[in-house]
Order: sequence, then C-alpha cells, then structure tokens
Amino acid sequence: MKGADVIALTLKRLGVTVVFGIVGIPVVEVADACIAQGIRFIGFRNEQSASYAAGAWGYLSGEPGVCLVVSGPGVLHALPGLANAQVNCWPMLLLGGSCDTYQTGWGAFQELGQTEACRPYTKYAARPPTVDQIPQTLQTAFRHTINGRPGPAYVDLPADYIQAKLDPVSTVTTAETATGGGPNRAADPVAITQAIRKLRAARNPLVIVGKGAAYARVETDGVLEGLITRSGWPFLPTSMAKGLLPDDHPLCVGAARSQALAQADVVLLLGARVNWMLHFGQKFRSDVTLIQADVAAEEIGQNHPVAIALVGDLKAIVGQLNQALRQSSPASSSQLDNGPATITTATTTTTSNHTKLAQRYRVNDIPMTYHRAFAEIKRALEPVYRDQVVLVSEGANTMDIARTVFDLYQPRRRLDAGTFATMGVGMGFSIAAQLFYNPSSAQTPGELVKSAATQPGNRVVAIVGDSAFGFSAPEIETAVRAGLPLLVIVINNNGIYHGLDPHAYQKEVAQKGLALMPSTALSPDTRYDLLAEAMGARGYWVKTPDELFEAIQEAWVQPQVAVINCMIQPGGPQKLVSN
Ligand code: ADP
Ligand code: MG
Repeated sequence: MKGADVIALTLKRLGVTVVFGIVGIPVVEVADACIAQGIRFIGFRNEQSASYAAGAWGYLSGEPGVCLVVSGPGVLHALPGLANAQVNCWPMLLLGGSCDTYQTGWGAFQELGQTEACRPYTKYAARPPTVDQIPQTLQTAFRHTINGRPGPAYVDLPADYIQAKLDPVSTVTTAETATGGGPNRAADPVAITQAIRKLRAARNPLVIVGKGAAYARVETDGVLEGLITRSGWPFLPTSMAKGLLPDDHPLCVGAARSQALAQADVVLLLGARVNWMLHFGQKFRSDVTLIQADVAAEEIGQNHPVAIALVGDLKAIVGQLNQALRQSSPASSSQLDNGPATITTATTTTTSNHTKLAQRYRVNDIPMTYHRAFAEIKRALEPVYRDQVVLVSEGANTMDIARTVFDLYQPRRRLDAGTFATMGVGMGFSIAAQLFYNPSSAQTPGELVKSAATQPGNRVVAIVGDSAFGFSAPEIETAVRAGLPLLVIVINNNGIYHGLDPHAYQKEVAQKGLALMPSTALSPDTRYDLLAEAMGARGYWVKTPDELFEAIQEAWVQPQVAVINCMIQPGGPQKLVSN
C-alpha cells in the first residue's frame, strides 16, 4: 500500500464521497487512489473555484468539503476558499501536496511553507509528523472542521509520504475512530427559561435566523416551525437562512427588514452574527434586549451587549426553546390580542414593497432593467421554482436586487457571496450544489438526458453578474465534463456595478482613449454564450423579455449545462425598492 492509498482509504472511512481539486505533481496518485475507492473527483480549472466548491459542500452537507491541490501555487490559489469557509463558518478540508520532506529548504519544485501559509485561515493546519500518522492527522483535521464553530483545516501531504510504501494493517485500525458527527450540545436550561420569559414579555419580539441555523438544520422535525408558530414571534431570515421557513410565512418580516430591526424590543439571534450584515447592531433600538444563541461562546457580545447567552448547538437550542415555550404559561394578553406591532407594520410595508416591485416588473424598456429580467426569470421558472430550483446568486447589483425578488421556500437552497462578500464563488458553489442536490448516476450525456426526462430533479439556477461570472467562467467546462446541468443566467450590464452600451463605449474610447476608460466598464456585448458553447454547453444570447423567457424554458428541459447571456441596461440599477 502506498501513502496515496492510505490517504484515500482514510478519507473514505471518514465518509468522504467527493473531492474537489486540480491534480498535478505530486497529487495525481492521491486523486486516482480516491477514484479507485469510489470517491468522486471533480477536477476544476482553477483551485480557487475548487476551494469555493469544497466550502459550499461543507455548508450543504454538514461534513467537511474536501479540496485537493498541488504544492506551492496550487495551495496559494486555494487560500481564498479557506478564508471564505472560515469567515462563513463552514467545514472544509484542504489537502495540499508538497515537496519531498528531505528537500525542504533546498529551493525544491513549488516549495512553499504551506502549513504556515494556511494557518491564519484555518482552525487547524498540520503536516502529519510521520508518514504513518497520515490517518490520525486527517482525522484530527476532520474533528476540527465540524466541532465547535465549523471551519476549515489544512493537511500537508509531502511527495515522499504520497509515494511511501506502508503497512496496511496499522492504517486500517487507526482510521476507524468515530468522529462523532459534530456538536449537539444543549444550552444552560436556566438561560433558556430566562430567554422565553423575556421574549414573552416583549412588545415587539423578533427572531433573527442566520445561516448558522441553516447549517445546524433547525428545520428538522419541524422544530423551528414549532417555535415560530407556537410563539407567534415574527422572524427575519438573513440571506442564506431564507427558506428555513418559507418566505411567504405569515410571520416572516423579510420584506420589511429595516423596520423590523428598528422596532424590536427583544431580539433572539439564532446563528447570526452582529457584524456588517446586521449593521453591527447600530440599527437596533438603544433599549433593545439581545438574546444570542451560538455555538461559539466568544462570539456572544461582539459589537453589542447581550443580555442572555444561549451557548450550544442551534438544533438543540431551538428544541429547548420550543419545549420551554410549551411548558410556560401562555403569552400575555397584550401580545395575543394585537400581535406584535412588527407584524402590522411589516404587512403594510410588504404590501407596498410588492406593489413597487410589481410596477418595476412591468417596465418594458429594451435593454431590460434588472427587475424586468428577474420578473421574466420568475415567470419562466414558476412551475418548477418551489420544488426544484437551487439558487446561486452573486454579483453586486445582481445579487442585491435578486435578494428582494426571489423568495425561498426550502432550506439551504440559496448560496451567495456570503459574509466575506466573495465574488467569483458562483461556479464553484453551483457545481457543489448541483452535485449535492442531484447526484446523477448517469454515465454518459445521453443517459443524463434520459434520466432527467423521466425523473426531473433539483437543478441549480445561477443568477450572476457579468463581472462575477468572469472570475470563474472556465468552470463551465468542469460542469460539462462532470455532467452537472447548471443553468447559468449572466445578467450582463457590460461592467462592474454599471457599464457602457457599445455606442457609448466606442464614443468614450474615441474621446478619452483607452487609458482613461472608467474602471467599471467591461467590453460591451461580451459573448459569454459563445464562450460557453465553445466549452460544450448550450449558449443563448438574449436581449428581450420574450427571448429570455424562451431560452429558460428551452434550457430547462435540456438537462445540459446552459449559459444564458442576458443583456440589460448598462447604466446600473434604478433606485432600489426600500426594504
Ligand atoms: P448570517 O450571515 O446568516 O448572519 P453568520 O455566518 O454571521 O450568519 O453567523 C453564523 C453563526 O452560527 C456563527 O457565529 C457560528 O458560530 C454559528 N453556528 C454555526 N453552526 C452552529 C451550530 N451548529 N450551532 C450553533 N451555532 C452555530
Ligand atoms: Mg455587471
């Protein structure tokens, strides 16, 4: 048995079913050994996307997403995925090949202090102390990724370890320790009782549900639903927590976010940090009482005083809250009679926002506005949207506006640029999500078409800005090769935030010269659809609502990677609907 086989066998024993990455010296053998173990290897075109895919897999599956890369530059290209997973609190394991141990310091091929380079962006970074200890180190890394606050880990795999001949007996026994499957720790029962009492006494209680709650699967067994419906407390999901309860739930105040944040007198935070996404808590009332539930005790109190800390696993905590609520005396009559004022105002605001949105959907300009294009996407996907669509969203305006337009009805069905606001994650996320939600067993493109026709499954619809798409467009080839039928809609405004139409672009070049062109402008009318076709996908170039509608309809029934290059107004968004 070689070191490569031990690595693959250990991963298999740890439950790994897919590895994302790019091979080269010295990790080709590792990937091949994984494939021989029945682990799917998805070979990417840039390590950055592979590392993003691993992070997204970690979030969706609750198990570390594994990424395998070559030494030196390969590891450096994967750092963005580590940092992205760290900031989002997602479990992931990066495996980096490295130069032979005895060549360390010689100026070896792609030599880099990789473990040190990864340390700032991981919970754990190590090289197995000896080749025999590969299984233990991998296992330790695994435990770090999923226990406590989830996050990334790095394990260094020197070339001589990968090539080494090993005794199979020792590896078999050492790889068998159970990992325990992550935290399931309940919070202090006294704090639970206090929390329920505070929330019950509140005039305007608000539950903020974050992606930590989505990661913890608090929707399982109807626990979250039970808590919300039993209490009648309004809730506000953060962008990736959308769908834990349906966005059209009567107690969802997502469409009146600012008001809900400003009105609440008692706020229960379920797996959401008081960071930039929640305005550092500065939009809360000055007399607000915060109750924060999080697995990371050190998070509690960050940027805002917290009255009651619920430290533990969110699924356990939501269960405890639910049970305590059932056992406590009924809500005060003031709460029951009128309902929280938040709901009344939220309903008014939601209605008025929907009216505003509906007006925007009807704007018939060509090129289209963002809203017009999104309305068409909604209309075309309507029959399948609730049950089959997995949404990936990135780009500045594209992502912001899409958040107000596309509701979610199922958990973990939206992936976006996240807490780190990383652009370029779209293709890596899409590939991971498509694999997670619809792992087709089709062996050939023909089989894929047939199986999709007989049993329609989940499908990723990635709605991405043209700039965001550009970061990782070659991964279309990855999806084509892997038989993962992504539907990618590039919302193309010829630029970053905004661009110029072809005429204006030419005029500016003529007047100012290339050196003075605005930094936000990309080449007008770039044919991302042709790029996709060149890589084996279907491409559509659409300029009108009808063309967009038809392209989506056609692409949906073809279970094949499709890229719709949708031209919209280059001038940037009209003033946004307030929320
Ligand atoms: P959002 O972006 O939705 O506001 P954040 O990423 O800021 O969410 O916050 C997620 C929080 O959830 C983190 O502080 C993390 O420690 C916490 N978390 C992650 N998994 C769990 C879990 N299983 N139980 C409790 N808290 C968790
Ligand atoms: Mg753009």
